[in-house]
Amino acid sequence: MNRRTFNTKLSKAIGGVALVSNIPLACAFEASENKKSLGIALVGLGTYSTYELAPSLLETKHCHLAGIVTGTPEKEKIWGEKYKIPKENIYNYNTFDSIINNDSIDIIYVVLPNAMHADFCIRAAKAGKHVICEKPMAVSVAECQAIIDACAKADVKLSVGYRLHSEPHTQEIQRIVKEKEFGKINFVTAEAGYPSYGNPDPNQWRLKKALSGGGALMNMGVYAIQGAIYGAGELPISVTAQEFSTKPDYFNDTDETITAQFEFPSGAVGSIFTSHNAKADRLYASCDKGWYELDTAYTYGPLHGRTSSGSEITFPHKRQQALQMDDFALHITQGTPNKVPGSMGLRDLKIVEAIYQSIAQGGKKITMNL
Ligand code: NAD
Repeated sequence: MNRRTFNTKLSKAIGGVALVSNIPLACAFEASENKKSLGIALVGLGTYSTYELAPSLLETKHCHLAGIVTGTPEKEKIWGEKYKIPKENIYNYNTFDSIINNDSIDIIYVVLPNAMHADFCIRAAKAGKHVICEKPMAVSVAECQAIIDACAKADVKLSVGYRLHSEPHTQEIQRIVKEKEFGKINFVTAEAGYPSYGNPDPNQWRLKKALSGGGALMNMGVYAIQGAIYGAGELPISVTAQEFSTKPDYFNDTDETITAQFEFPSGAVGSIFTSHNAKADRLYASCDKGWYELDTAYTYGPLHGRTSSGSEITFPHKRQQALQMDDFALHITQGTPNKVPGSMGLRDLKIVEAIYQSIAQGGKKITMNL
């Protein structure tokens, strides 16, 4: 019996007198959540699940691949055999909701096209499962809020797939920023992009607004937004943005290249670049007493960084997604901080919407209250 069904059944059994059940309920929750390794079900077995998440789940210590949800029947057999997934833990999009009855699944990880995130995250929460939602969290602020509300209502934990918060080079930048190692930060620039026409499928969902919610900004742009924020150590208060395209026939439904400028409360300024037409992968900040940078900054690693003091930022390579999923599992079982709460995904969508608003208004400065 999972936590949600346990809760419901217990509440019914005691005639809805929920308060007197607090003590046994807490014990039962503790028992279930102190399990050694939590079971994860991946929803959507595309590129990211196949080449990053599933292999990472062979390296995790606190969670494991327990189930799959796929719309492609051939994948059921291939994945079932490769990862020794029992038949009862294999679902399709129609049977997905019956996952509520499966106690071996603790976390549902939604790895579908962006416009499908909200629906599946909300259904996962209703099934009483903890949720990891891939980035961008959803295609609108309203959808992000609906996911957060559904998880709060079901009393399940929620995280977004921003893997870099568990990554040591990025954490070292966060430490440098927090300790103001190079004095006041004056300027940060974050660039994240890759040429998507390198993908031989011109019908890929990332180029269709109905499925992606937008182009480069929704894809790699959220990494540039993230980089600007943890590179500056504060949230922007305004944004001004521009869009341009050198291949308008190809990028006819979604943005190709976007640049944006942030103002921060300290007086620091920031600049981001994102593109589906150019490779870009860097974070740099200049301060009163020096500078720091990551280059590469957003790939699956190994990342690499330097500072003006001559030091290299370098750590042994580990799969970022394994670190990320273990961090979330520990958050659930041991109450460690949630490094990427749903509120962070929501915050980034507020910035995304402000950027699109600025572009729609010819580059007008949009103030933000994050
Ligand atoms: P993909 O195209 O390789 O896979 C998408 C999966 O969704 C496929 O299994 C496909 O069958 C399934 N799907 C279900 N309905 C679909 C529909 N209507 N149209 C298209 N596909 C449909 O995509 P991906 O690269 O695996 O990306 C999936 C999610 O993961 C996206 O939200 C993406 O932003 C995110 N992602 C995150 C990172 C990261 O670094 N955190 C990296 C890659 C992808």
